[in-house]
Amino acid sequence: KYPKKYLIGGNWKCNGTKESVAKLVKTLNSAGPIPPWVEVVVGVPAIHIGDVLKTIRKDISVAAQDCSATGYGAFTGELAAPMLADFGVSWVILGHSERRTNQKESSELVATKTKAALDAGLSVMVCVGETLEEREAGKIDAVVLDDHMGALKGKFSDVEWAKIAIAYEPVWAIGTGKTASPEQAQDVHASIRGWLAANVSPAVAAATRIQYGGSMKGANAPGLLAKPDIDGGLIGGASLKAEFITGIAAAA
Ligand code: PEP
Repeated sequence: KYPKKYLIGGNWKCNGTKESVAKLVKTLNSAGPIPPWVEVVVGVPAIHIGDVLKTIRKDISVAAQDCSATGYGAFTGELAAPMLADFGVSWVILGHSERRTNQKESSELVATKTKAALDAGLSVMVCVGETLEEREAGKIDAVVLDDHMGALKGKFSDVEWAKIAIAYEPVWAIGTGKTASPEQAQDVHASIRGWLAANVSPAVAAATRIQYGGSMKGANAPGLLAKPDIDGGLIGGASLKAEFITGIAAAA
């Protein structure tokens, strides 16, 4: 289907003890093959990153779930992108709706963090998506395209865009067990690709992976991943199980 690889990202969120993380790594390590046309990344809580990098199978990359907008220096409590890169982290998830809501991250801040991550050599999954209230008020384009995508406009070269994936995550589908139907997701994915063609370049629009996120699991992955503009997933709950590989990555 693609010259580009499907991108299957896991988001472990704020979960895991030393013991449960070691167990999860074992589970993923023995969960069977990852097809060569699929790239798999797991978003690990920062404190577990060092251990996971040492123990996880080599065909799974490690992402952080956030990074700071600043570099090294007097920024107490922050985690700088070059620090992540130095440890061997290759990806970072930015702008997750939980951070947009709980930490009040603006689209401008997400764009600044994206630049900091790219400058450090990291690849970025930028999350975008509307709430149920916004969907019902007919504001999907205003939120997803004008605000979340709009903040990225004019900030990155085509070479930088090659290291950016967009994760469309309707907020009403995250952790709720409610999944967007393949058609609902495809509609928004097509608009995001259209936005990229109009505001970045047709080449970037064609090459950018657009992931779907929101209660994705083994049972609904095949229908979603079959859609022409769905190039992968960002998975929360189901990324803590073998199903992440056997049901989702294997369905791509
Ligand atoms: C997420 O956290 O990005 C997510 C999509 O979660 P879940 O799969 O649990 O809905």
